[in-house]
Amino acid sequence: MKTIYLDNNATTKVDEEVFEEMKPYFCELYGNPSSMHTFGGQVHKKIDEARARVAELIGAADPSEIIFTSCGSESDNAAITGVIKSNPNKKHIVTTKVEHPAVRNMCRYLAKNGYFLTELGVDKEGMLDLDQLREVVTDDTALVTIMYANNETGVIFPIDEIAAIVKEKGSVFHTDAVQAVGKIPLDMKSANIDLLALSGHKLHAPKGVGALYVKRGTKYSPFIIGGHQEHSRRGGTENVPSLIGLGKACELAGANIEYENTEVRRLRDKLEDNLMRLAPDTRLNGRKDQRLPNTTNISFEYVEGEAILLLMNDFGICASSGSACTSGSLEPSHVMRAMGVPFTAAHGSTRFSLSRYNTESDVDLVIEKLPPIIKRLREISPFGRDNL
Ligand code: PLP
Repeated sequence: MKTIYLDNNATTKVDEEVFEEMKPYFCELYGNPSSMHTFGGQVHKKIDEARARVAELIGAADPSEIIFTSCGSESDNAAITGVIKSNPNKKHIVTTKVEHPAVRNMCRYLAKNGYFLTELGVDKEGMLDLDQLREVVTDDTALVTIMYANNETGVIFPIDEIAAIVKEKGSVFHTDAVQAVGKIPLDMKSANIDLLALSGHKLHAPKGVGALYVKRGTKYSPFIIGGHQEHSRRGGTENVPSLIGLGKACELAGANIEYENTEVRRLRDKLEDNLMRLAPDTRLNGRKDQRLPNTTNISFEYVEGEAILLLMNDFGICASSGSACTSGSLEPSHVMRAMGVPFTAAHGSTRFSLSRYNTESDVDLVIEKLPPIIKRLREISPFGRDNL
C-alpha cells in the first residue's frame, strides 16, 4: 500500500539530494573540523558553506549569526536561557498560550524558578491581541518569545509588528520559527528579530539537527558549555553530516519556496475546500488568510480525531489529531483549548500538513476516502448529535 504522507509538520522525508550531500562525511571525510590538518580543515570549510546556506535562507546579514544545534527544542531552550542569563537583573518573560512545549515548558520551568511569566491568550482564530502585548512588556521584561507559525493550525503571527513592539519597549525578541522556515520567505536583515530557532527535520534535512540565529550584537550566553566550537557559543563536536544536510536542505527550500506558496498551497486548499464541502458539520481551526501554505486543521464535529486517524491509516493516509492522551483520557491540545474550540469539535480536530512531495492523487485519495469515514464514525460515535 502506498503511504500518503500528510504529516509534514511532524517530520519530513530527507530529500535525496540532501542525503547525497551528507554521504561522504560518514566514512570518507570524517575528520574533526577543529583539527589542524587539512583532512579536518576541508570539513571545516564545508561547515562554513552550510552555515552560509542557512543564513541565506533566512536572510541573515552574516553567516556568523548562525549557531548549529541538535534540534529545534535545543535552539528554543538555548535562545531563552541564553538571553536571560545575559540579563540577570530582569525577571519577566512574555510568551503565548499556544507555543510548542520546547518554549512553553522551558518558560514554565523558569516561572517555578524565580521568573514572572505572562502567557498571552489568543482569539478563536488563534490570533494575538497586539495591544495586550504592548501593555504587558515592561522594563523588567528580559525576553519576549512568540512563535512565528503554529505547528497545529499553521496560523502565522504578525511577527514583524510584534518584533517592532518589543524593540520599542526595549526588550529582546525570540521567535520559534521551526514551522515557518522553508515554507514562507523570511528576512532577518529587515526584521527586528533578535533570535530565531529552526529545525532540520521540518524542512527535508535529517532529524537531530537545528540552528539558532542570534542577531549580531545580541547578548547571549551558551547553553552547552564546552569547547570552542561554534565560536564558543555551543560546545560539542559538530554533527558534521547532519549540519551539512541542513545546509543543503536550506538551499533547496529557498529554491522551492515559490512552489510551496503556489502549488503546495493549491493542493492544501483543494483538500480543505473539498473535505469541508463533502463532510457536514466541519470547522476550520485557525485564521484562514494568515496561515502556512501547507497546513490545514479541520474539526469534524462529534467524532474523535484518533478514530479518524486509525481509519485513515487503513488506506495508508498519515495525518495528526489535535488531542493528546493525558492520564488515559483524550484531552484537546493546549492550542485548541487556548482558541476556545468547543469540546465536540476539539476532539475531532485533524491536521493535514503537506510538502512539495505530495501529489494531486494523494489529495484526491483523501477527498475520496475521508468523508465516508466521518459518516461511519458519526453513526457509532458516543459524541453523536443524538447522544448529546
Ligand atoms: N517548535 C515547533 C513549533 C515545532 O513544531 C517543533 C517540533 O514539532 C519544535 C519546536 C521542536 O523541534 P525538534 O523536534 O527539532 O526538537
